[in-house]
Amino acid sequence: MNPAAFAVLNLDALQHNLTIVRQQAPNAKIMAVIKGNGYGHGLLRVAEALTNVDAFAVARVDEGMRLRKAGINNKIVVLEGFTSEQELNALLAYRLDVLIHSFAQLDILSKRHERKQMGAWLKIDTGMNRLGFKPIDFPSVYQQLKHSTIIKKPIRFMTHLANADDLNDVMTIKQIALFKETLANIPGERSIANSAGILGWPDALTDWVRPGVMLYGISPFPGRTGAEHGLKPIMEFHSRLIAVKSVNSGETVGYAGSWRCQQATTLGVVAVGYGDGYPRHATIGTPVLVNGQRVPLIGRVSMDMITVDLAEQPNAKPGDPVTLWGKNLPVEEIAEHCNTIPYTLVCGITQRVKQIDSAWLV
Ligand SMILES: *Cc1c(COP(=O)(O)O)cnc(C)c1O
Repeated sequence: MNPAAFAVLNLDALQHNLTIVRQQAPNAKIMAVIKGNGYGHGLLRVAEALTNVDAFAVARVDEGMRLRKAGINNKIVVLEGFTSEQELNALLAYRLDVLIHSFAQLDILSKRHERKQMGAWLKIDTGMNRLGFKPIDFPSVYQQLKHSTIIKKPIRFMTHLANADDLNDVMTIKQIALFKETLANIPGERSIANSAGILGWPDALTDWVRPGVMLYGISPFPGRTGAEHGLKPIMEFHSRLIAVKSVNSGETVGYAGSWRCQQATTLGVVAVGYGDGYPRHATIGTPVLVNGQRVPLIGRVSMDMITVDLAEQPNAKPGDPVTLWGKNLPVEEIAEHCNTIPYTLVCGITQRVKQIDSAWLV
């Protein structure tokens, strides 16, 4: 028995997408970003399919610990670093590389003198204004780190682009220039580019690249799809019809009666809702595939159900297959109908949704 709502994961395509990264950045080492439960695709599942990368990046210490406990042996970089002695101990115990981005972290480091060492990236804030040291503070921070016995040498350097998905924004050029200027004459590997940097900004390609969303086959650029970059989507999101009924002109559908029927039609109820990660803010008209054909969402998204207008599919019946995103329905397009970015949709798939490796289906 198949669960009503399920995700099919085309994990083989991860290697294909990695090839696209290598084509774009042939001389760079690759740090595959698998934070956020592998962008909703499963942390371990993705890691196990990508063990030929140079490193994995996760956001938090516990994500790195999970990877190590599962036997992943690649270099693992924890992008948010640590905020306490305990987290620092875990980084050491689990051989996780750390991002040093704040003076609070330097204070903790200054109290530690053990022999055990950890790999470190110094984060420079070139304009994102999230994590990292300002360029003016760099020289003194670098000196301090160089003298910290707990930090393995050589130290590496990272910055993060704030608006690389807008190919017309000069901010990216400024960030790259400031990073280079700050590190002039300093030895050590550098990393700038996320997916948008890899696909859109050749000057951002340095020693290491950090692809996230593109590995999952999704375009980082608004208005474009992964296919336009030669990428293949990993996740398909499916469910089925559980009821089909007629509605008369003038009747309303769903909570708050937000959709009113203009002329009699056939309505389908699909077993998927925000309890599965289908976005509640999906607007009326968001496309859904029923039996492979597009029909519009009508009414509000509930926790366990959505309703669609089956005017174009009058013979559809309970049990028929429904696709929320996947083949012929890019997640990027759904995101636009939901006023969000595709990252949030794939990350938002909930525990209830059974994830199935497409290799098991053949
Ligand atoms: C999430 C993240 C990435 C990956 O970004 P994508 O847009 O998904 O490619 C790279 N670097 C850092 C620091 C990140 O937080």
